[in-house]
Amino acid sequence: MKTALLTIITLVTSIAMCAQTYVTNVTIVDVEKQKMISNQTVVITKGLISNIQSSKNIKIPENATVIDGTGKYLAPGLTDAHIHFSQNGGLYTRPDAIDLRKFTPYEEEITISKTKMEDKLRRYLKNGITTVFDVGSTLYFLEKSKAFKGKDFAPTIYMTGPLSTTYRPKVYENFPDDTPFALTQTIEDGIKSVQDQLPFKPDFIKIWYIVGADGLAIEESARKNLPIVKAIIDEAHKNNLKVAVHATQRITAQLAVENGADFLVHSVDDEILKPDFVQLMKKNKVVLCPTLIVHGGYVNTFGQNLNFSSYELKTAEPQQLGTLLDVKHLSDTKLVNAYKAQGNSKQMLTGLKVSDSISMVNLKMLSDAGVTIATGTDAGNIGTLHVSSYQAELKAMHASGMSNWQILVASTINGAKILDKEKEFGSVAVGKKANLILLDASPIDDLENLTKIDKVINNGTVFNPEHLLKDKPEDLAQRQLNAYNFRNIDAFLEPYADDVEVYSFPDQLQFKGKEAMRKGYAQMFENTPNLHCELVSRIVQGNTVIDQERVQMGNRVLEAIAIYHIENGKIKKVYFMQ
Ligand SMILES: [Zn+2]
Repeated sequence: MKTALLTIITLVTSIAMCAQTYVTNVTIVDVEKQKMISNQTVVITKGLISNIQSSKNIKIPENATVIDGTGKYLAPGLTDAHIHFSQNGGLYTRPDAIDLRKFTPYEEEITISKTKMEDKLRRYLKNGITTVFDVGSTLYFLEKSKAFKGKDFAPTIYMTGPLSTTYRPKVYENFPDDTPFALTQTIEDGIKSVQDQLPFKPDFIKIWYIVGADGLAIEESARKNLPIVKAIIDEAHKNNLKVAVHATQRITAQLAVENGADFLVHSVDDEILKPDFVQLMKKNKVVLCPTLIVHGGYVNTFGQNLNFSSYELKTAEPQQLGTLLDVKHLSDTKLVNAYKAQGNSKQMLTGLKVSDSISMVNLKMLSDAGVTIATGTDAGNIGTLHVSSYQAELKAMHASGMSNWQILVASTINGAKILDKEKEFGSVAVGKKANLILLDASPIDDLENLTKIDKVINNGTVFNPEHLLKDKPEDLAQRQLNAYNFRNIDAFLEPYADDVEVYSFPDQLQFKGKEAMRKGYAQMFENTPNLHCELVSRIVQGNTVIDQERVQMGNRVLEAIAIYHIENGKIKKVYFMQ
């Protein structure tokens, strides 16, 4: 009996081991040749792409899993080459940029980022991002990332530990174990900052080349700190680690590249680049990640000029997105108004316009010259939310003049090139990792089609994206609240069931069905000035969410309780009490 059982177990395991997945009749998005290849069958064996052939020539074994790709597009999974696990994208995540610790202690932010790492990873994968680069983190996350290695639900993670810097914002001094900054004020410090990370096995080293904080002029400061920067680069290279550098001025970028930097993690935004520097980047095979939207994320949050699409409102982590609107109701009006004024000041808005347009001109120039561009968002910074900001970044790249093919290349195979992994992943080719997205429409016709994901395939495992991360009841309540505050009727109705019922407590029916709700709310969104709903408190009990809300409508302020009942993943009943 025991032997028979063992035989069966062995048999079952070996079938599972050899089981193959066939994606049939699919159009392959070939990012290396920049063309579509129709009617192909892609075979996946043990996590790798083992065969690609014309569909008519291929025989499918009986025990294979078959995915019908008719009418669909198979693209490589996407890479976000610039994110931060230690930052959550909300209002309280960078106390050095806006210090609101008296409202939300930074300890709380640290706890959120630590407890939500798996959530972040699942959200990335669910939306087709199969590889992420964390370009500045803490030793905690560097260590923790190892636990997700090889997990089918998690994207591949490449990351560094704390970034080496000659300037460290003061607020982080109180958090020595959770600081993403390693202060390096001498050559010895610089070398040590690399060596300190080695036991944690980083995939690369990151330098924050910040200049001017020492009171010197930009170029003087850059040259003064250069010996430290160079020592860090040399020490990293000695240990076979590539070096990513934050260098947003032409001078810091140039000095970094001249001294061996491998990866520039932002655009140069203060000067149009000169041809000889462009050629040097190309010759040294330096990869550039443009991060076009992150600056605007800060300015538009402070000025409360945020504008999120329905896709972003649906895809972002809803609680973090919600915090960005707290500026509207935080009680320290003096502090908050000062930031609001700053975010709407001519100086800041003009500065953003100028740096954005220089970044875009430089990006187009670098891309056309053949410099390797890798798409990255800088997600985690205030206003640049994990996962959802990827589409906004693609749009900004498109606005710079890059073609859809160039952008898709930047978002796939070029991400792999950062660490010379292009033979491992980044395109649909035999021998590469089966990290793929099956799309309902062509991403070359429209990059937004990258959001129309039928299946995500990670390490060969096929996922229905909806199964990767399920909505919690409070996510649904928060999403409709966020969309309400952005007056976006489609995004507002998205978390509701088609046959939703809205009551005045206890039993007076106000609306039945989404369409009735649409009429009522669309009109209100259009006609109500100063509309803002503040969540005062929330109780979640099973499938019920009870929100205490303070709603500003024109000059009126209403206090209300909303009770949301969730059924089958949608809000089915709402009760309002005033
Ligand atoms: Zn960053």
